[in-house]
Amino acid sequence: MNEIIGYLIQSPTALYLTVGIISLCIGSFLNVVIYRTPKMMEQEWRQDCQMLLHPDQAIIDEDKLTLSKPASTCPKCKTPIRWYQNIPVISWLFLRGKCGECENPISIRYPLVEVLTAVCSLVVVAVFGPSLQMLFGLILTWTLIALTFIDFDTQLLPDRYTLPLAALGLAVNSYALYTSPTSAIWGYLIGFLCLWVVYYLFKIVTGKEGMGYGDFKLLAALGAWMGPFLLPLIVLLSSLVGAIIGIILMKVKKENQPFAFGPYIAIAGWIAFLWGNEIMKVYLGG
Ligand SMILES: [Zn+2]
Repeated sequence: MNEIIGYLIQSPTALYLTVGIISLCIGSFLNVVIYRTPKMMEQEWRQDCQMLLHPDQAIIDEDKLTLSKPASTCPKCKTPIRWYQNIPVISWLFLRGKCGECENPISIRYPLVEVLTAVCSLVVVAVFGPSLQMLFGLILTWTLIALTFIDFDTQLLPDRYTLPLAALGLAVNSYALYTSPTSAIWGYLIGFLCLWVVYYLFKIVTGKEGMGYGDFKLLAALGAWMGPFLLPLIVLLSSLVGAIIGIILMKVKKENQPFAFGPYIAIAGWIAFLWGNEIMKVYLGG
């Protein structure tokens, strides 16, 4: 094991290749996380509601959905997906985007998420080089990709991912991996509070709820990873990215769909995580 790690540290080609292949597989797993998490939450809510409304009735016996069970099947013909049909990107190309049995189309989003995960992971390697910062940076990146797509699909940022992400940020920075322990704690607090204030001002002024608590928790988590000084940059960048993508989506779809802010916070947070300090230096004039 030590020999493998030593080799990866010495040979950039081997490092990029290894991270590339691993992150393609992680991307494949993220597809499962993105697709199943909202369904798992819905199943739990249904059971909670039933227990609350009809405590006398037996709980409907659904097979409990988890990330690992049941095995993936074609949503149309229920044919189990074999291991060789589950190789990132390659299987999708080989099957020409269709189920091997019933020709049901498989969304191009699956291979795209895999490629995106690999590209973002290689960027993290390029920025940090072989180090602990790279390793935990990859974990942050993968979590943000899952959260981005889940929020985009469902306008939800599940606590089960945002809260552990914040805890991990505080934990790694207790060893000052990206910022000092004190800075991480203040990043967490201020990240939560600044959107909370915006939320209440917006609610008082317009009487509507403009964003969800998930957004506060995500920004708090990002604050825990990189400290409070990059938070203004994240808020600014996310408004910018949100405005650009929002206008494009409105032009393309022509419909007013519910607006998820989480993806933009996640994208802006990732940019700030990798290049925030450099951006701030240029912005503040050295
Ligand atoms: Zn099928």
